[in-house]
Amino acid sequence: MNPTVDLKVFISSSDSSCTECGESLGHGAWITLVEGKGALCLACADLDHLVFLPPGNAALSRRARKRSTLAAVVLKWSRPRKRYERQGLLVEAQALEQAEGECLADEEARACRREREAMRRAELDYHYVERFAHRVRELFPGCPAGRETAIAEHACLKYSGRIGRSAAGKSLDEDAVRLAVIAHIRHTQTRYDELLARGDERRDSRDQVEEEVSRFLAEWEKNR
Ligand SMILES: [Zn+2]
Repeated sequence: MNPTVDLKVFISSSDSSCTECGESLGHGAWITLVEGKGALCLACADLDHLVFLPPGNAALSRRARKRSTLAAVVLKWSRPRKRYERQGLLVEAQALEQAEGECLADEEARACRREREAMRRAELDYHYVERFAHRVRELFPGCPAGRETAIAEHACLKYSGRIGRSAAGKSLDEDAVRLAVIAHIRHTQTRYDELLARGDERRDSRDQVEEEVSRFLAEWEKNR
């Protein structure tokens, strides 16, 4: 087993496009680099569920990193210094919340949380989230209570342009909803994130959890 490695996310310094989905990401996009394959957007790299934690609060960063199964260091090339510089961390939202809980005595952490929540609220199109959640419930009646909202919020952020995606998901068609549910199951019900954090190939990791994902999917889809 590989030791846990910090994945690296780069803020590109030139125009780039994703070699998997073909999306043109423009200048300053957040990408991962895969050996022999080039740049991947965070959605294709399956890292788009992570939230950005800027530096400035060392205790918070340390705790969030510790709590996060999957995490990435965000790096940006500095032209004057001719080296990559750390911009912060990408961590799991739940890990950040736990870390913030541990730092609650810390006024700065509270301020960060308020700022992040305000940003999140500004980005979410609540009407869309509601419709998407409703559709999840309709197609996957066995899905545990509350999950439809988590799935819908993530899909909304993903399709709202933040990740540079098209409006394909806006249509609420069954395939788009199913893909969002599959991604959610993979990240929350299986060891997938752990495998990625270990540095395993994304495809191998997906293969390893595929059966488990299908099982959950069938369970959630029951009685439709
Ligand atoms: Zn992509």
